[in-house]
Amino acid sequence: MPEFYLKIAIDAPLDLLFDYLPIKNSSVEEYAVGQRVIAPFGRSSRIGVVLDITSHSQLDDKKLKPVKTLLDSSAVLSKLDIKLLRWAADYYHHPIGEVFSQALPKQLRKGGDAQIKLIKNYALSAQGNSLQVDKLKRSPRQLALWTFLLQQNKPITSDAFPCFGWAWRAPLNSLIKKGWVVVSECLEQNTHQTIEPSFSTNVAQQSFIQKVIRSANTYQTYLLDGVTGSGKTEVYLQLIQHTLSLGQQALILLPEITLTPQLANRFRQRLVAHMVVFHSGLSDTQRTQAWLKMQNGDADIMLGTRSAVFTSMKNPGLIILDEEHDTSFKQQEGFRYSARDVAVMRARDYKVPIVLGTATPSLESLHNVNASRFMYHALPERAGNASAPSIKLIDCTNQTLDKHLSPPLLKAIGACLEKQEQVILFVNRRGFAPVLMCRSCGWVAQCSRCDARMVLHQKNQRLKCHHCGCEGAKPLACPDCQQTELFPLGLGTQRIEDVLSKAYPNTPLTRIDRDSTQNKDAMQAVIDKVSEGGAQILIGTQMLAKGHHFPNVTLVGIVDIDAGLFSCDFRASERTAQLITQVAGRAGREEKPGHVLIQTHQPNHPLLQTLINDGYAQFARDALTEREHAQLPPFHYQALLRVNAIKESYVNRFLADVGRLIEPMEKNGIELFGPVPAPMLKRSGRFRYQLLIQTADRKTRYQFLKRLLPQLNPLKSSRFVRWSIDIDPVDLY
Ligand code: ADP
Ligand code: ZN
Ligand code: ZN
Repeated sequence: MPEFYLKIAIDAPLDLLFDYLPIKNSSVEEYAVGQRVIAPFGRSSRIGVVLDITSHSQLDDKKLKPVKTLLDSSAVLSKLDIKLLRWAADYYHHPIGEVFSQALPKQLRKGGDAQIKLIKNYALSAQGNSLQVDKLKRSPRQLALWTFLLQQNKPITSDAFPCFGWAWRAPLNSLIKKGWVVVSECLEQNTHQTIEPSFSTNVAQQSFIQKVIRSANTYQTYLLDGVTGSGKTEVYLQLIQHTLSLGQQALILLPEITLTPQLANRFRQRLVAHMVVFHSGLSDTQRTQAWLKMQNGDADIMLGTRSAVFTSMKNPGLIILDEEHDTSFKQQEGFRYSARDVAVMRARDYKVPIVLGTATPSLESLHNVNASRFMYHALPERAGNASAPSIKLIDCTNQTLDKHLSPPLLKAIGACLEKQEQVILFVNRRGFAPVLMCRSCGWVAQCSRCDARMVLHQKNQRLKCHHCGCEGAKPLACPDCQQTELFPLGLGTQRIEDVLSKAYPNTPLTRIDRDSTQNKDAMQAVIDKVSEGGAQILIGTQMLAKGHHFPNVTLVGIVDIDAGLFSCDFRASERTAQLITQVAGRAGREEKPGHVLIQTHQPNHPLLQTLINDGYAQFARDALTEREHAQLPPFHYQALLRVNAIKESYVNRFLADVGRLIEPMEKNGIELFGPVPAPMLKRSGRFRYQLLIQTADRKTRYQFLKRLLPQLNPLKSSRFVRWSIDIDPVDLY
């Protein structure tokens, strides 16, 4: 009989821990809770994390196998990490092994070494320093490297070399071999000068900073409701400075698009600290290294996106989550967690303050403030000399819309450009036009795999489906009646670009959407160009609404807002209000006052009226009251069961079985809506249905799902479908 057993979270879609025996002749000291192992699983083997070392197992010893390999000599996940992940697996009803696997950066998930790589630094040796140039004249690349190192006059990392644009490794190695270049290894040097701001914080900023500082080393969630430009980032920087002064680490979470090199530089310029970043643009190695440095305490600050919330911290002191209303913090596939909610739980476990910052708080967070769970603080005014922009509606009902832009908007654009100032035009959709239609028979280009229209992309004359990504050439004639008069309806960023480039042929014009910024450096190029100043037009999708600071923009035009006013999703009005407020926040961020013009056919719509006359805060209060009366989140709790299959009958058969399972269950306090076809029934060739479960409290939802979900996979009909459960869904599509 073995002395002990291991309970392991195996990366597999099963919601249980697996029991294993220790490796033959190994002793208990070699094992640790939080350590990664390779274990036999079925006919192959998988990676898992040890979650418990126990003296007994429910299973017969003969049925148990020993683990194969220990990947770590000590734990990579701490007790608090494990506590958090076990909570998350339970709360989100997601298989525990998958939760653990997702929480680790990819290399660690795949069994890579949990070792911090030292960074190589290169410098000229004494001999190299006094070298005669002609010694190198026959090897121009070595000469270029040598000259470069001579100019640097300090050790540098290999990050600097790619600027040569050629293969620098071989010539560098030659220099090293000859003893002219020396290599040293270190963690990362941090010798830069910091720049202190030229202003001092205002009263609203200062009182918040003091509040948070006083609560160091205790848990508290703060909702920092600061209008755009009110100096939230400045507040973050000072809070982080304080955290660093206590010898503690800070984790800053941001939506993917706002974590730009500019922002990282702003942090670097202000903080003397070892900072790491964590986002999808990095290599697996870079992400793993960043994670490990926070885990072992080498790094002090991490700037990261959603999945950075699972980073293990050695000395946690502060968590900040910026743009807390942003739905990109919710993972929409697989393990569907909310990084905001996980971060709050994390802060609670770590006993540290967490700051949720935004100009447009989510209704969830406001509700938590009302319930005294979160502490509220406002930064009501723009910092420095900037003032709030004026917002006006343009009633389009009686306007002749010249190519989608109304005369008042065109006039305002003209006036702005004349003053050598910049304009942002916000369009909700990329591409040229969302509908391609035949004039004679009414045929429209439809995606064959989705219940969606193909979007026309004019430049390359292609039709693209924005839902499944499939595309094809624009047909020359109508496939139904062979007429050649196909015309585009509706608008997208490219169409507005087309209109404006004809109207202002001499004004630089930039389009910012997912099509134009696919290349990693494209966004930086745009920012550089815009900051040169002068009259310019920027056209973009919501990518433009976030984070970026364009000081010379004084006019923001919102070209099409009406679709957001009529959606079947109950969160659509909240999204629209946030979007308008965020886009408007791009106007007049410095001395010059900003104006916002919104084109609409619904000028009397209550949402627009409230936003314009009373602002976002009043809108949010009204919306919360409405949600309460309608018994919707955040007052009630939802879970969405999504099912899809290649045949509709497979989905229906499965859902009928699910219905039979639910039939005899206790349903007190539970409301079921559906099953119904998803708003887009067919997507990527699969038919989609959903069942919405809503309860008045969390516990009822939890208990219902704990009983129901384990019964689903054993159903025979489940083999032909994919199903998932989404807890607190933010998107009912
Ligand atoms: P937010 O993050 O709320 O949009 P930022 O922190 O980026 O705001 O601040 C907007 C601008 O105002 C920045 O250029 C910042 O340096 C400046 N700023 C911040 N706080 C102050 C202050 N107290 N006085 C003057 N300028 C400030
Ligand atoms: Zn036709
Ligand atoms: Zn499609």
